[in-house]
Parts: sequence; C-alpha cells; structure tokens
Amino acid sequence: MRIVLLGAPGSGKGTQAKKLMAERNIPQISTGDMLRAAVSEGTRFGQKAKAIMDAGNLVPDDVMLGIISERLSASDAADGFILDGFPRTVQQALDLQELLDQLGTPLDAAVLMEVDFDILMKRLTGRRTCSKTGKLLNVHYSPQADLDAVIDRGGELVQREDDNEETIGNRLAVYREQTEPLIAFYEKRGRLKTVDAEGSIDEVYERLVAAIT
Ligand code: AMP
Repeated sequence: MRIVLLGAPGSGKGTQAKKLMAERNIPQISTGDMLRAAVSEGTRFGQKAKAIMDAGNLVPDDVMLGIISERLSASDAADGFILDGFPRTVQQALDLQELLDQLGTPLDAAVLMEVDFDILMKRLTGRRTCSKTGKLLNVHYSPQADLDAVIDRGGELVQREDDNEETIGNRLAVYREQTEPLIAFYEKRGRLKTVDAEGSIDEVYERLVAAIT
C-alpha cells in the first residue's frame, strides 16, 4: 500500500502513520522527522534546515526531492509506504508522481485528514514528546497518568521548537497557501480520500483504515 497523508500541521498525520506502521508493517516516511534528525546531527545542511523550520517555512523543493528519492529507493519502501509531510507543494507532488512512475509503483491514495482550526491549535500547542521513548503526548488530551509516567520514569516532556504560537501561525498560513492546492491535485487524479480526523486516536484510525481498504 502506497499512501500520502495530507493535512494541516496538527491534523494527526504522524500519530496515525505511526499506528499504521506498527499494525500493518509499512514504513512511515516523515520528512519532518528526517529533517529533525539532520538538524540534531548539526551538519551544515541541518543548520540551514533548522532556520527554515524554526520560522515555519518550507525547505526548498529540490532539496526535498533529493531526500525523498533516496528514501523511496531504500529496500524497506519497496512494498509500500506511508508518506507523512510530503508532498507539501504542487511541485513536490509532480516530482513524486514522476519518481513513482519511474519506479513503476503508483500511489494508491492521498488521504486528507480534516480537522477544525481551533482543534489544530490545541493539538499543536499541547503536543509533547517523551525524551526517552519518543512517544507522542498532549498536555490537553493525554490521560494525566500517561503524562506522569514519563516524568516518573525519568523522562521529560519535550516541546518541538516550531510548536510555539508564532511559528504555528506561519505554518498554518504556509499550509493554506502551498499545501492545500494538493487537495484539488489528487481529487483531479481520482486519488483523494477524506477522513474526519477529529475525535480519539482510535476513532480516527478506524476511519483511516476504512478509507484505504
Ligand atoms: P512536520 O514535522 O511535517 O510538521 O515538518 C516540520 C517542518 O519541516 C516543516 O514546517 C518544514 O519546515 C519542514 N518540512 C517537512 N516536510 C517538508 C516538505 N515536504 N517540504 C518542505 N519542508 C518540509
């Protein structure tokens, strides 16, 4: 299964992709995670990417094409993948189409995760990651016991640097201007599926699975 998860920052793409990866054994390919790994390695490229990400802007399309073409040619992506955070521009969608045409492995679906603006803000401002396990939590939504367990086990609840209100505002504006046109792009090609992405993680997961099977 080869799918793209589309949706605004905070729509739950990462959470759902991780769940799908665990239950279906298909790799989650998150360009945001790949870029954050480059940032933490401190390479020159990582330093450049950090400035762009901290401002909530997009890394240039040609750079992203290099990253994604390398990743998609890895052996674990041969039988399918879940793209999370790519494509984010029409150019990236065209590049992806060309790449998959060359590999002879067309996309099965682009799934749009629909969430109301107010909920997006709450999800993004409350989002935290356990420093020890990488588990995603939310100070507004996660059970208090889960949040306490992180601290009790000596972990910290880390907030992403781009999850502050100013950067979030820009990320949402960038989404509207540059990524939303992909909805029409995939609709035109008969690949778009839409999922109501409000509600609990498990509820959304059920709807996602129903949409792609
Ligand atoms: P994410 O974790 O998907 O929210 O991505 C975090 C940040 O990484 C974004 O705000 C962008 O700065 C950058 N990024 C991730 N994926 C892409 C992409 N496909 N194109 C350009 N920039 C990206």
